[in-house]
Amino acid sequence: MTGLDASAAALPGATDTIVAAATPLGRGALSIVRLSGPCAHQIARKVCRRWPSAPRQAVVTELHDASGATLDQAVVLRYDAPASFTGEDCVELSTHGGVLVPTTVIAALIAAGARVAEPGEFTRRALLNGKLDILQAEATADLITAGSRAAQRVALHQLDGGLSRRIAALRDRVIEIEALIAYDIDFPEEDDGPISPERTLTALDSLERAIGELLATARSGELIREGALVVLAGKPNVGKSSLFNALVGRSRAIVTPVPGTTRDALEAVVDTEPWPIRLVDTAGLRPTTDLIEQLGIEVSESYVRRAAIVLCCGEDADSLREAVATVRHVLDSAEPPDACRMILVRTKSDLDGLPPGELAALGKVLEATATLAVSAETGVGIQDLLKSIGDTLDQDAGAPELDAPVLTQARHQRGVAHALAELGDFRRAWRELGLPATVAAVHLHAAAEALRDLIGGIDTEQILDEVFRRFCVGK
Ligand code: GDP
Repeated sequence: MTGLDASAAALPGATDTIVAAATPLGRGALSIVRLSGPCAHQIARKVCRRWPSAPRQAVVTELHDASGATLDQAVVLRYDAPASFTGEDCVELSTHGGVLVPTTVIAALIAAGARVAEPGEFTRRALLNGKLDILQAEATADLITAGSRAAQRVALHQLDGGLSRRIAALRDRVIEIEALIAYDIDFPEEDDGPISPERTLTALDSLERAIGELLATARSGELIREGALVVLAGKPNVGKSSLFNALVGRSRAIVTPVPGTTRDALEAVVDTEPWPIRLVDTAGLRPTTDLIEQLGIEVSESYVRRAAIVLCCGEDADSLREAVATVRHVLDSAEPPDACRMILVRTKSDLDGLPPGELAALGKVLEATATLAVSAETGVGIQDLLKSIGDTLDQDAGAPELDAPVLTQARHQRGVAHALAELGDFRRAWRELGLPATVAAVHLHAAAEALRDLIGGIDTEQILDEVFRRFCVGK
């Protein structure tokens, strides 16, 4: 049995009390140690000299171990079941930070009868006690790992139950169609039944559309969560690292006038809304006999293949042509060929060179999504480039609404796509194969189940394991 299985087997009504640091151990003013379970209060009282007389009350107290040695002065906050995060009796001890204080306090709590929590076990208990559903549990992890404000907003919306409500409403509509058909079974003697097939079909059409719309948010959800991969490509020395720094807004790449100095890929998140960008500055994509540079080039190629957008950089027409040809070559070498958008970026626009008209004409010939002239030196064109990246992503994934439900995980996409496929199967079985609607309705039932599993049939052990694998201990 894995630790997670063990914790699940013990619930609901877990008998053991778990403890963990809810904040990372290390230098810091405070550290929060969390305790949850039926004996949380009893165990905490063995370690605290003073104890809050009522739930949600905090007291300042000395903490001590079994030998009576003082460990810290802390604030202790008491929660009584079910009014707590996990739904169990809980205690939060705000100790001093660092490593020694929280670890000795945790050791004292273990000696007093608690056991160390598994990763995500507090949230898992909250879920099993009905405090949140699986989508909200996932949102908790997303919020903690959010790398951009857009990802933070989407996670908060999901934590607030936005996606859960949308999916529950869609499931209700599946059940309504099931009910329309069940009505038919109840009144079989009537000619066409009291519900016309047209009414059921209309409800089905509109439900399929609504589920399709939600499914269509999966691409934008992924781009928001992960950041859209935007890769800088072009010959060495055309100004990619300088452009990377200008876009990121601070000096991360080492900029030198020697060709071939960006040996590996540098990555940074540009926190723009609605699309956060994972910007990657690659090594020059050029043939070389230098082994280390060759390795850098292979890394660059793999980034180009996964990119949503490649910024093909060059300071003149020749280097721009070469950048596009190299990127095309990399994309076409995959089987099937990878597709991605290319933006033609004329660098060092503060220096003489390609006039705007010629740049636009070149962009057309090279079939670029957009063309821009930028100067990392003066900053001219940088904002326009960010806007052009945003517009290109809008074309690709549809402009996202950050405060509306969005599918952010492969699990969501699978579940919603499964539900949609089952609705299609229902329609085919009923309307094309001529099966009685009541027989075809097995697919409606499967669609409702697929949606239910997304929110959380708590018996679905496998789903829970998938979700909680991503958690840290103490959450
Ligand atoms: P990379 O090899 O493509 O990453 O090129 P770098 O960013 O290292 O730049 C190569 C050289 O071009 C450096 O000397 C930079 O200072 C210079 N450079 C980069 N961008 C600009 C720019 O916008 N204007 C001017 N005048 N020089 C630039």
